[in-house]
Amino acid sequence: MQNEQDTAIMCDKCKVYLKPAKITLSYLGNSFITELPKCPLCGLVYLSEELVKGKVAQVEMSLEDK
Ligand SMILES: [Zn+2]
Repeated sequence: MQNEQDTAIMCDKCKVYLKPAKITLSYLGNSFITELPKCPLCGLVYLSEELVKGKVAQVEMSLEDK
């Protein structure tokens, strides 16, 4: 299926599909847990540029509230 290829990300090194894993990210002293595709073999975590920008925007917004 074409749609599955869009969401299934393969590790270039290991040639295996990444599996969702809970990852703790930190940004400017704030940490938050999110679920990201992670390679079960080498531990590579896939961060899309879109996701990174979204998380950064969230953190910045929460900082401005205080
Ligand atoms: Zn890998």
